[in-house]
Amino acid sequence: MSERAEHPTPSSAALIDGKAFAARVREEVKTMAQDFAASHGRQPGLAVVLVGSDAASQVYVRTKVRQAGEAGIASFPHLLDADTTQAQLLALIESLNADDRVDGILVQLPLPAGLDESAVIEAIDPGKDVDGFHPINVGRLSAGQPSLVPCTPLGCLLLLQDRLGDLSGLKAVVVGRSNIVGKPMGQLLLNANCTVTTVHSRSRNLAEECRQADILVVAVGRPGIIGADYIKPGATVLDVGINRVVDDAGNARLVGDVDFAAASQVAGALTPVPGGIGPMTVACLLRNTLTAARLRSQAG
Ligand code: NDP
Repeated sequence: MSERAEHPTPSSAALIDGKAFAARVREEVKTMAQDFAASHGRQPGLAVVLVGSDAASQVYVRTKVRQAGEAGIASFPHLLDADTTQAQLLALIESLNADDRVDGILVQLPLPAGLDESAVIEAIDPGKDVDGFHPINVGRLSAGQPSLVPCTPLGCLLLLQDRLGDLSGLKAVVVGRSNIVGKPMGQLLLNANCTVTTVHSRSRNLAEECRQADILVVAVGRPGIIGADYIKPGATVLDVGINRVVDDAGNARLVGDVDFAAASQVAGALTPVPGGIGPMTVACLLRNTLTAARLRSQAG
């Protein structure tokens, strides 16, 4: 069944095809990677570190390594046993920091219990931090300085700018305040001159806040939490949530945080799940690797 056929055609909202847009981003990255290789005598390089055998993480890592290869980026996968110690992991990060073939370092999260994620993130050279999680990059984003930006919110921003052009003055509401999606999303929208409100589990009048939004970005992790009454007519709605649900017949499928059928009646444009933000996240990881490669070569 095709991606589109899984979703009823929205009666009013346009479908934002993140899958197609991500393919365009990867093509642009491929062209930039070829130019980089021609002028530097090597491909840009991405190290991907996976600790343990979490099934979902293994799928993500395989996708990242395959798409890197297709875009002309050399990948250096490091698949470590679940009983890897903090010292061993930090020693690997140290060696990747020092490896000139490596422009980007991605440590697949979550790490197994017992490993200190913050310490691992802080050990990564900020110039190679293609996830944009290092406190230096978080601070730069907050200060409006050029930085490596977390991939999912960056993907959201690119989709919004492609659809809406200049975002200045638009009212944006971000639902969720995690360090990997909600907070950096709010910062990016603020830096793009939106008027930004971030709401979360303790917010009051969630529906009323959301209904003010020209741009609504939802990153909660609860299936269908955003219904039609949360959406301003004509709003652009990005659904970051990925939730696995099982129906009465026992069939599993992925759904977002937005009630797609209901939102389609009200929104101006809407991303589907799957096929919306997910593909943009990996495309932006590759884009960040190119950004890191170029910045390192300029610095060197
Ligand atoms: P987190 O669990 O870290 O954060 C969830 C946020 O939602 C929190 O800020 C929480 O508030 C808020 N929240 C929870 N319940 C409510 C509620 N009832 N009303 C309002 N806000 C609420 O999740 P992530 O940000 O990591 O991920 C969010 C979703 O996005 C998940 O489904 C995840 O799988 C998906 N995701 C998708 C990606 C992609 O590539 N498409 C990439 C990353 C994530 P509080 O802070 O108060 O607890």
